[in-house]
Amino acid sequence: MLRIENMDACYGLFQALFRVNLEAARGETLALIGSNGAGKSTLLRAIAGAIRVGRSTITLDGKAIGGDPEHSQIANGIALVPEGRRLFADLTVEENLLVAAGAAKKIGRTGEWTPERLFKELPALDPLRSRPATALSGGQQQLVAIARSLVMNPQILMCDEVSLGLSPVAVDVVYQLLRKVKQAGTAVIMVEQNVSRALAESDHYCCLQKGRVVLKGVSAQADYGRVAHAYFGA
Ligand code: ATP
Repeated sequence: MLRIENMDACYGLFQALFRVNLEAARGETLALIGSNGAGKSTLLRAIAGAIRVGRSTITLDGKAIGGDPEHSQIANGIALVPEGRRLFADLTVEENLLVAAGAAKKIGRTGEWTPERLFKELPALDPLRSRPATALSGGQQQLVAIARSLVMNPQILMCDEVSLGLSPVAVDVVYQLLRKVKQAGTAVIMVEQNVSRALAESDHYCCLQKGRVVLKGVSAQADYGRVAHAYFGA
């Protein structure tokens, strides 16, 4: 269980998150919902160790890990698929996964998600193994980015802007994969701008507004009107 307690986060003097509280459990998906600038990416980056936060604000299975740098959070089992994906442009699809597999081995995060298993699970990627990672469609790149994070066998997989810029078919394929990841017992935390889709694909949701949690609950029981109100801040 990942627990965030009273988390503040700042960019210099600008405070972007205020006393955020939330939880993400293994085998469940948590959707972060909120308008532009609400703090969703900041929250993911803070959990991933890219922004310094107080030690006690993040616990994983009771162990305080807040403030650990990015490489330590990866070793702790936290992986972030950032907005924009940041694939290694000079490497092929397969090399992107193999580099991650090498890193996973070094830090002791080998497990069921190997490059070979991922090529099997994602038949659309198999014929693209030798392509440069950036010579792919947006949806294909998103799959490679998620696959590369999965090779680190994370306990918590975080995806920023899951469906941004993807075709409806590509979005379906990405969500199919995320469902499998969740069923395999990983906690998935995702940012999804499409509120209906976010609620449909998640077990829990959390609405952020100006850096504060303003609403959270069980997605299947969400009142769409209240969520829209929280989203738009009307
Ligand atoms: P979007 O949906 O547009 O990606 P978001 O909910 O992910 O928005 P964040 O990117 O987390 O929002 O931004 C939260 C706040 O922090 C915004 O006011 C933003 O301008 C500010 N912010 C984000 N990144 C930085 C940065 N590197 N330096 C300073 N302020 C930043």
